[in-house]
Amino acid sequence: MKAPVIQTALPGPKAAALIARDAKVVSPSYTRGYPLVIDHASGSTVQDVDGNVFLDCAAGIAVNSTGHSHPEVVKAVADQAGRFLHMSGTDFYYELQVRLAEEIAAIVPIEGGVKSFFGNSGTEAVEAAIKLARFATGRPNILAFLGGFHGRTLGALAVTASKPVQRRGFGPLMAGVYHAPYADCYRCPVGMKPETCAAECLDYIDHQLFVHLLSPDEVAAIVVEPIQGEGGYIVAPDQFLQRLRELTRAHGILLVVDEVQSGMGRTGKMFAIEHAGVEPDVVAIAKGVASGMPLGVTAARADLMTWPPGAHASTFGGNPVSCAAALVTIKLLKDRLIANAADVGAHLIAGLKSLADKHPLIGDVRGRGLMVGVELVRNRETKERAPDERNAVVTAAFRRGLLILGAGKSSIRFSPPLVLTRDEAGTAIGLFDQALTEVEATTSLNL
Ligand code: PLP
Repeated sequence: MKAPVIQTALPGPKAAALIARDAKVVSPSYTRGYPLVIDHASGSTVQDVDGNVFLDCAAGIAVNSTGHSHPEVVKAVADQAGRFLHMSGTDFYYELQVRLAEEIAAIVPIEGGVKSFFGNSGTEAVEAAIKLARFATGRPNILAFLGGFHGRTLGALAVTASKPVQRRGFGPLMAGVYHAPYADCYRCPVGMKPETCAAECLDYIDHQLFVHLLSPDEVAAIVVEPIQGEGGYIVAPDQFLQRLRELTRAHGILLVVDEVQSGMGRTGKMFAIEHAGVEPDVVAIAKGVASGMPLGVTAARADLMTWPPGAHASTFGGNPVSCAAALVTIKLLKDRLIANAADVGAHLIAGLKSLADKHPLIGDVRGRGLMVGVELVRNRETKERAPDERNAVVTAAFRRGLLILGAGKSSIRFSPPLVLTRDEAGTAIGLFDQALTEVEATTSLNL
């Protein structure tokens, strides 16, 4: 499919009819940014029910790592579906789950033995990590970062500190959770410059939290995204993650990296934490791991996984069809797609950076591989955020046939399938350019 091809007003008549039905029967808690109703998809293109074709730089929120319906993934899914759909890997054995655990042990950046717990989603992967950390250390508290997103089940939600709407009305949340400032170098929480930064934002943990509030020997784990996803595609500098590792080691605290969004090749390495050369104790994995089939994995140092039978399990976790999809996904990532993410990602980042010359709305372009964020501001000096303009740009891009998503207060994320080509990246940059031009022409920026 060649994208984009937009031939109706959006939403088209069939899409509008389905959205009206949805409004009557589907939970209104979902965050639909624009009215896309998919009919089918392939690679990096999506066709809607009215025949409009879009270039996909959202990938179902960073999930379709191998592209939509990659033929090898579809074949593995169909073959496995014909053999058996479910047997509950928590109560019985099947080879696929063992093979996937072996594969995960080989790819996570943890030396020595690794064991995996299988769930169905990112939030379950984090939930299991929190429970494992408490169980393995016998300590009650968890430390995480402001702006972090780790899921919406009650334990993971307590660790999440992204937007108040995600927590409002659901309290009291799990006790024993503390938050510290994240290394947002565009808006440094402690006023340092990225060029000379020594991760001073982490002093808050050492000099404030551990002095006034919390005894480090009662902290089970620090949970961190190497690149904040929902928080705005904020790339923590290597020294932040390295210092965090030193700090956790010094106090016997486990380092849990949430690679749900940043993992599985998206950043040009299998896991984003590898860019910093840091070895975590636990890795939470989901989204891209099975190309769109539901799967969450909590991979941990084998010596930490000492919990007994019955301590934690999931009926559907490690579903055989999802495991089959994951095994093919990992093979495709290793063969070509991680390298493609690095190459096309660099091209995309360079192209978006060059747009900053003519678009004052662009405050910052950042990312690694095909995990790319553009932060919009109303004024480059004051860095006043531009949330309305951000939403308008996302909508203007959609009308032109480009699927992108917001992240954080005023950022846009590009999280395309990792099969995106340089040509497609060029098309995305051109459409984004047009969307910015349209919005800048209709808003009064404080320039
Ligand atoms: N962790 C991170 C970093 C995420 O980005 C997300 C979802 O966006 C989650 C956890 C939760 O994943 P899920 O929606 O599959 O529960």
